[in-house]
Amino acid sequence: MSEDSALQALTGYSGSTEVLSVYLDTFLGHQSKDALKLMFREAIKRLGREPNPKDVEAVASYLNMGYDWQSRGLAVFSAGKDLWMTIPLPIAVRTRAYLAGKPYVRTLMDVLDRFGRYCLALIDHQDARLFLVEHGSIQSEAELEGDEVKRHRQGGRSERQYSRRIENIAERNLKQSIQALEDLVERTDCQRVMLAGSNEVLGAVQDLLPDPLRRKVIATFIADMEATPKALLSMSLDMAAQVDWDEEQHLVDEAITQAAKGGAATIGLADTLYQLFQGRVHQLLVAEDYHAEGYVCAHCGYVATARSSPCPLCGYDEMVETPDAVNLAIAKAIETGASVNVVRENEKLTQAGGIAALMRY
Ligand SMILES: [Zn+2]
Repeated sequence: MSEDSALQALTGYSGSTEVLSVYLDTFLGHQSKDALKLMFREAIKRLGREPNPKDVEAVASYLNMGYDWQSRGLAVFSAGKDLWMTIPLPIAVRTRAYLAGKPYVRTLMDVLDRFGRYCLALIDHQDARLFLVEHGSIQSEAELEGDEVKRHRQGGRSERQYSRRIENIAERNLKQSIQALEDLVERTDCQRVMLAGSNEVLGAVQDLLPDPLRRKVIATFIADMEATPKALLSMSLDMAAQVDWDEEQHLVDEAITQAAKGGAATIGLADTLYQLFQGRVHQLLVAEDYHAEGYVCAHCGYVATARSSPCPLCGYDEMVETPDAVNLAIAKAIETGASVNVVRENEKLTQAGGIAALMRY
């Protein structure tokens, strides 16, 4: 299941059974399996009320028998026969459990948003290695061998001629590598590309890139052709997190400026919720540590900051209190196709009420 359809399935959940959402630290570099499983039991106790024992057992038996313990974190969603979903996470998350009518997607969005999805191309004058990275892990890897480029022939009368021939081979190889990257980007519908290689090759590649591909390049970095996939992944994830951070600072500035001018943006929970339920939000921005209570319409699911009766959207009489309006806002954003950005270290967003949005129109 792709990232998007998994998220849609989660936010579209409308079963009558409550959902047990569990986030687990499964990084064996820190602690033993048994200690990590114990943390799950403790998280269940901290819920303060008893979830369906079948859901708890389903998660426990998945940890015992189904899970491969290859990723550092894990998200599990269980609601009896209505819902069962497991999603490996690229980073360790704090082990916590949630019990509510809807899946708790906030932590998941935070992790996915930080690492995004991108194609990575490691290129030299001869060969190329292409990767698709998703969920913070390598989903596919391909190698492309070009014609041999010998770089160290000495002297001789035809040295210049020989160099030119080598340059031609190298350029042909680069073009083929770029073509392969273009194919991958198209096939996987990737919106972001990273390039890696030597300074010299990166410069040459930049000159040869066709414009549509160039616009998708979010970062370049120096890397050795022989680098292990693990090292490349780690370098590119760092770049991805940095790019994400930069973009978010920019989006926050834009939202605050636009909102002040009465443009297509909102700041604060009340206005942002309203626009989310109008389906107008394009980019949702949530401060990492922002939490808020709210009221949910028992009929249409509208979320408000105050218990207004009747519901402003459908007119139904009953608005029920929810301890976590922000999770519902994030779910609504996913449901309506908005991008969710969990923003770190941004004082301006905190001062603007912890949540803001840029609208489609
Ligand atoms: Zn309503």
